[in-house]
Amino acid sequence: MQEILEAIQGGASGDEIAALPIPETYRAAHVLRAEQGMWEGVPSEDKDPRKSLHIGDVPTPELAPDEVYLAVMASSINFNTVWTSIFEPLPTFGFLDRLGRESVWGARHAQDFHVVGSDASAVVLRAGSAVRNWAPGDRVVVHCNYVDDQDPSAHDDSMLAANQRIWGFESNFGGLADLAMVKANQLMPKPAHLTWEEAAVNALCNSTSYRMLVGRHAARMKQGDNVFIWGATGGIGAYATQLVLNGGGTPVGVVSSDDRARLLNAMGCDNVVDRKAEGYKFWKDEHTQDEGEWRRLGKKVRSLIGDDPDIVFEHPGRQTMGASVFIAKRGGMVVTCAATSGFMIEYDNRHLWMKLKTIKSSHFANYQEAWDMNRLIDRGAIQPVMSAVYPLEQVGEAARAVHRNEAEGKLGVLCLAPEPGQGITD
Ligand code: NAP
Repeated sequence: MQEILEAIQGGASGDEIAALPIPETYRAAHVLRAEQGMWEGVPSEDKDPRKSLHIGDVPTPELAPDEVYLAVMASSINFNTVWTSIFEPLPTFGFLDRLGRESVWGARHAQDFHVVGSDASAVVLRAGSAVRNWAPGDRVVVHCNYVDDQDPSAHDDSMLAANQRIWGFESNFGGLADLAMVKANQLMPKPAHLTWEEAAVNALCNSTSYRMLVGRHAARMKQGDNVFIWGATGGIGAYATQLVLNGGGTPVGVVSSDDRARLLNAMGCDNVVDRKAEGYKFWKDEHTQDEGEWRRLGKKVRSLIGDDPDIVFEHPGRQTMGASVFIAKRGGMVVTCAATSGFMIEYDNRHLWMKLKTIKSSHFANYQEAWDMNRLIDRGAIQPVMSAVYPLEQVGEAARAVHRNEAEGKLGVLCLAPEPGQGITD
């Protein structure tokens, strides 16, 4: 990999890069099948990704005709790497085994190690024989929608494909590594004005927020909409805040500290709810929600913007869904993509149907949506929201910070890039 890195840094041509040998093994962050039972009986919050995420060499898989090998310059931590590392809600080896049963090429993924990571900025090293639009030497970013395009269900909206997967979570050979193997239809041009790490952090979270709010499959925000955003300085929330501001909407952002409130103000969001300072407690006990608390939050939002939210950007799940359904405007929409605090959800259905509200699900994004999102980044209309950068060796530390809600925006991870600040070409 050192030879490959030197060639990239020395400005080698595509032909020169194509002539370099692909190593038989490479350094990667991975979890082990043999350890998937290691957290039995341990409460979720005590599961420490530093213990389950290993950095070490794994064998390079064979390349399929529609795939490319990438030299990964940088990657990022997503919450799915936290889920994989704590083996919740399920160990990801089941996903790999299912993919392994699908086809000869799928069988490469069913290993006793799982290389994690669903973002990357990279340089193409080799392109399979069926790849048309990309060649060795191309500087790219990767989106994580892993779709078999021979399935008819993949051809309306590829997120509806029967075998749609998230690369590096439901497939192997992910981006937290020096080398990766992805399908050509996951590639997008790297924005030239960004460093490797700035370019690496956007695709998963920003595309998710884009589909939830902007694309035609979910909330379809319009100018003037009020949008209530949980975790507004978090991974998906900080992109959502920018998308709302860009689209002529009014964001109301929720955070849990003074520092985050200031950060949100600095991003241009004036309407801030500090959920910790104001002490919202939507559950009286494990079984009972507190409608009074929902009402208190609703009043707070009205005091800020004089109205109820047209859209609620929801992802904390069990802790907040009851409140989200309650505060949405009559006829409004709660759009959800996750359930960080628990997936068995409870809300009062009367508030939903009597006020004609909609709960809409959303999951990552199709290639076109990811591409449109990348174009916004490329134009400088959306900024990467990266608050820290870690070397690959400290990936467990970085995942732990995300697990403990100690990180703002995204955490970048340097893979082949030796230090931050490299990779800008314009
Ligand atoms: P993140 O960077 O950790 O940010 C989440 C934010 O949510 C935190 O900053 C926190 O903000 C807030 N939060 C956490 N627990 C909360 C609670 N109990 N009540 C209210 N707010 C809470 O994570 P992320 O990258 O934004 O991802 C968020 C969730 O979306 C994760 O579950 C992830 O797996 C999921 N996700 C799904 C998709 C998809 O395609 N379906 C894509 C990306 C992410 P404050 O503490 O400041 O309020």
